[in-house]
Amino acid sequence: MEVRKNEIFEARQWFCDGDHPLVGRRHAGISNPDVLCTECGKPRKYHGFLPFNFPVCQGDWLVNDGHAIGGEYLWNRYTDIEFKSLFEKI
Ligand SMILES: [Zn+2]
Repeated sequence: MEVRKNEIFEARQWFCDGDHPLVGRRHAGISNPDVLCTECGKPRKYHGFLPFNFPVCQGDWLVNDGHAIGGEYLWNRYTDIEFKSLFEKI
């Protein structure tokens, strides 16, 4: 049997430009801003982007799991539903 130990993570919810230092500006690098996102159904122009052009939907949570590569902390992305099933606020 495996049990995940209790850990504390820093988490931030993203809605718009400036909400998170790692999320790039909306519109940046999007050639088709009106295409709808397959996850949330909103146009891509309302999304932010993590490094490697990974989209972030409005309301997504970014969680710092404490792991770093090259001095940069990795932030994992979760939808609001995923986040609420995995974490609780303290
Ligand atoms: Zn989306």
